[in-house]
Amino acid sequence: MNLKQPDSTTRTKVLCTLGPSVNTADSMKRLMYAGMDAVRLNFSHGSYEFFEDVFKNINTLDQEKDSPLAVLIDLQGPKIRIGKLEQPEIEISPGEKILITGEQITGTKNIISASYGEIVNDARPGDRILIDDGLIRLRVTGKENDKLSCIIEAGGILKPRKGMNLPGMKISSPSVTVKDYQNIEFALRYHVDYIALSFVRSEKDIYDLRKWLKSKNLLRPIIAKIEKKEAVDNFDKILKTADGIMIARGDLGVELHPQDVPVIQKEIIKNCNAEGKLVITATQMLESMINNPVPTRAEASDVANAVWDGTDAVMLSGETSVGKYPVKTVQTMHDIIRKAEENFQSHNIHFTEADNTEDKLFDSVGKAITGMSDQVNAAAIVTFTFKGRTAVNLAKYRPKAKIIAFSNDIDTINSLALRWGVIPVYLDEIHKETIAIDKAKKLISESGQVKTGDIVIFSAGAPHPDKSRVNWQRFEII
Ligand code: PEP
Repeated sequence: MNLKQPDSTTRTKVLCTLGPSVNTADSMKRLMYAGMDAVRLNFSHGSYEFFEDVFKNINTLDQEKDSPLAVLIDLQGPKIRIGKLEQPEIEISPGEKILITGEQITGTKNIISASYGEIVNDARPGDRILIDDGLIRLRVTGKENDKLSCIIEAGGILKPRKGMNLPGMKISSPSVTVKDYQNIEFALRYHVDYIALSFVRSEKDIYDLRKWLKSKNLLRPIIAKIEKKEAVDNFDKILKTADGIMIARGDLGVELHPQDVPVIQKEIIKNCNAEGKLVITATQMLESMINNPVPTRAEASDVANAVWDGTDAVMLSGETSVGKYPVKTVQTMHDIIRKAEENFQSHNIHFTEADNTEDKLFDSVGKAITGMSDQVNAAAIVTFTFKGRTAVNLAKYRPKAKIIAFSNDIDTINSLALRWGVIPVYLDEIHKETIAIDKAKKLISESGQVKTGDIVIFSAGAPHPDKSRVNWQRFEII
């Protein structure tokens, strides 16, 4: 989203997974024009050569400065997969026995390997093992010579390297793997705004990752992906520790049950909104558009309902990374969001009280400006921000006016691109009030974001970096 597209401005942001379908600067630009605000690089797939190219293309866009784009890297975490198979497809039938080993072998109809070496020690008789998003279901019956013995409850076609879920099983491997650390060190040589961690189990996973990032001077906001029952059970503490949450509905619906997903989605969004923490609703939002140029009506309803639930962002996965219609999908998602927001049924957020003075200060400013702007029916709140915090705290209170955040920091405007309701714009000299206001007024008028007679509230951050200035506001009628 940028200033030049006032008509297509939506408050809810669109996060797109990049892949072979969209990896050039040109295709990314087309997606941005269609409504993409942020990209997700999924380190479960893709080589360093692929990501290197993508980062170079992102860098080209960054230099243009008028196309802010947030970049999120998604770490695989302890994702478990089956190993190689002697054939590309092997049919297994219900009622038959199959062995699982933690050793890396080439699998057959009778024995397959799991990438998680400790599986034989951690599994107990009666545990469920799900393969390929739960299409194939096994039940552990016992152990035989350091292998797990399982009965096939739902058969199907086994394919190499498919995902394996172990619902309810206590996994002893760390949440951030050696590969994840290598991937962070690789990716953070480039532009990265957010780090998402898969298969989070407790707040300790977030705490440990942050400690490591700090020690390497690589700190970025951490998004906890909620996709395990343990994460749902520990959600309150994870929310307090993480900078944001992704509702990873794909694995969540396998680790739990599909009927649990909508209930958990609503609860997570409500709690994130109360804390003002970023929340992303992910997976299968417009799944059928991987192959079709139009969505199902149920998918359109799903996207609109996520918007009405209060999500900050919606995410596309295979639809953009490997789909046949990436641009059409983003346009469709954008149209659904816009329609949903035009017919917005506002919901009451019961905000959680900040527990320290600095957060209280920011909250009070965000709340007060939102109150003022709603009361005078302002068209826009323009904020000058160094690190983006004023804009984020305004967005927390969901003002009716659009939030236009000017910053002289390219990292700030890029990371704000994923924030609900915020239109980030690059502007130098934001510390010189009069110059900044004049320039901002010119930019927002010329771009059509505001028109003659509109009320605009200008506001600068609190506390200002030099700590000697307090927050200020100024009303203007354009
Ligand atoms: C998910 O499971 O919904 C998800 C977003 O994670 P991934 O795509 O990494 O499996």
